[in-house]
Amino acid sequence: MRLSTRLLSNYCAFLKTKPNPMKIAERYKAFIDYFSEHMPQAETELHYQNPYELIVAVILSAQCTDKRVNLITPALFERYPDVEALAEASPEDILEFIRSCSYPNNKAKHLAGMARKVRDDFNGRIPDRLEELTSLPGVGRKTANVILSVAYKIPAMAVDTHVFRVAARLGLTRGAKTPYETEMQLIRYIPDDKMNLAHHWLILHGRYVCHARKPDCDHCGIRSLCRHCEKKK
Ligand code: SF4
Repeated sequence: MRLSTRLLSNYCAFLKTKPNPMKIAERYKAFIDYFSEHMPQAETELHYQNPYELIVAVILSAQCTDKRVNLITPALFERYPDVEALAEASPEDILEFIRSCSYPNNKAKHLAGMARKVRDDFNGRIPDRLEELTSLPGVGRKTANVILSVAYKIPAMAVDTHVFRVAARLGLTRGAKTPYETEMQLIRYIPDDKMNLAHHWLILHGRYVCHARKPDCDHCGIRSLCRHCEKKK
């Protein structure tokens, strides 16, 4: 029996939007195998000693380079060594230390508000639950996931611009339109014990090889599994 044109076209659309689970699973396996071998250690480039310093650094890093944040935080942490000290500071006090990063006024307000809420609502401890973290000023889902994974070693996938772009180019995500959709697709296939490493693999690959405007495909070790390159052939 011949398929009707409409049925055939619906089936083709289905194939385009629903990747073969084996194929995508193989792609994830190749991604994990490659980076496990070539980048077995991967961690944040932000300098921090504890969850308090990490959350401050991550809030400062929005739309700013880690290098710039690392220049700012030593003096900031010397003046405000813990949540209690920062909670006593006004946004204007904090602004003096962070003027050289992007959006300093907003970030100074967020840091002051975050420290006060942590002091008043969480006994001075940076929370380790997503809902509690995202209740803090200046802390969105991405920042909260960084704190969970980096400070508390809880499997979580923080999706920044690098993770979003590289995951899509590699074909690890399909049709994801938002960071949340990217996160959901990645956590579906990446095992918990590789989640935090995979977050850093995607960031570092995006930062140093798979640049937004000019990806350095000639020097990319995972070109053979890159969907972006497959499509160009
Ligand atoms: S081959 Fe090019 S586009 Fe694909 S992941 Fe590597 S650098 Fe990025």
